[in-house]
Amino acid sequence: MDMQKKLYLETFGCQMNVSDSEKIVGLMQGIGYVETKDSAQADLILLNTCSIRAKAEQKVYGHLGKFKSLKESRPGLIIGVGGCVAQQEGEKLLKRAPFVNLVFGTHNLHQLQDMVRGAEEGRRSSATDFIDDEARFDLFLPHGREGSVSRFVTVMQGCDNFCAYCIVPHVRGREISRSAAKIVDEVRQLTASGVTEVTLLGQNVNSYAAKNPGEPDFADLLRLVAEIDGVKRLRFTTSHPKDMSQRLIDCFAEIPKLAPHIHLPAQSGSDRVLKAMNRGYTAGQYLAKVSALKKACPEIQFTGDMIVGFPGETEADFQATLDLMQEVTYADLFSFIYSARPGTAAADLPDATDPAEKQARLERLQALQKKVTLERNQSLVGTVQEVLVEGPSSSGECLFGRTGGNRATLLDGDEALAGELVKVKVVEGLQTLLKAEPL
Ligand code: SF4
Repeated sequence: MDMQKKLYLETFGCQMNVSDSEKIVGLMQGIGYVETKDSAQADLILLNTCSIRAKAEQKVYGHLGKFKSLKESRPGLIIGVGGCVAQQEGEKLLKRAPFVNLVFGTHNLHQLQDMVRGAEEGRRSSATDFIDDEARFDLFLPHGREGSVSRFVTVMQGCDNFCAYCIVPHVRGREISRSAAKIVDEVRQLTASGVTEVTLLGQNVNSYAAKNPGEPDFADLLRLVAEIDGVKRLRFTTSHPKDMSQRLIDCFAEIPKLAPHIHLPAQSGSDRVLKAMNRGYTAGQYLAKVSALKKACPEIQFTGDMIVGFPGETEADFQATLDLMQEVTYADLFSFIYSARPGTAAADLPDATDPAEKQARLERLQALQKKVTLERNQSLVGTVQEVLVEGPSSSGECLFGRTGGNRATLLDGDEALAGELVKVKVVEGLQTLLKAEPL
């Protein structure tokens, strides 16, 4: 009989949550839990929630309802909620969902082991205090899923930008950067355990250490991390276009390990809408950064985020967004219809656009992007790329990896290649992936 305690974890939202979930798995392994993909088998169910979209709280309560009957049939089951909705709701969540054992906010992962142990003894708890200094980062280390070749390393957290639509500064707190020495230490530890690709992570990495005099800026931090022997490939996300310096752009020409890919969210192509969003740049300024990046690194691939139907967006504004997309030619784009988040500056703006019109605009935008993505993938056929092999593909029939430009790629080869950079020739460009042959 299998006596190991099982954890079922669901993650919603951005890469910061994905990264936090890796740490949660590591923390729970530390107190005897192994991960399961089957919630019916779990002794501990954790939801790592996101509040970026409308009605996020209701959706979390709805989702939790699915686990209520499980709890009724197995009273010892522990249910916990973390992430941005937990941060907003706190104690309220324990009251509204009496079958939930614990609620942990975005700054409280370090308390999670104790909270789960307490729940095992029948105690319910909530922890949502912000920790507004660098000590926060030390509390999270060094935990993560075993065995992966690619890992996130948090370099800063929080945000001071207050884009008019965004809840992040309210649920993740103000911007705080971690010391370069500690980041380098963590990367060294990861490479010693077999990790070969690191992604430096933060809400806006471009303003890394802006408030820490004496620390290197983000461009110099990239150089420090690239010097570590075991690092074969380096990435970063996310970048605010207004803080993208020429020094950082030059890194793409000067640091061979830096992958030729950047996630650079524009959000709109209309100057009027960008101003209303409080983004701090015009479409022209955004495009100037794009062309400087293309000049520094001609093979660079762009991904981004776009919001459709921001309050007051006209057809002309929307057309400007399509125009900007045509000029950038994103490899991929995450696009959403604007949804008001209570407490943000845009929440009370008058919004006369018909929801059906917003939906139609989103569909037009996504159709354009689908075409561009396929064209870009097809244009890579015949080229030589470097793929970092992550392991077997989901079907198990071949290997899965990613090009420097972050294109998902299938290739033949031995599983022992996991973690290695392999030179391949692209033989097919499909909508969502490339097929390639090792050289
Ligand atoms: S830069 Fe803007 S969109 Fe990004 S996290 Fe900060 S407030 Fe949100």
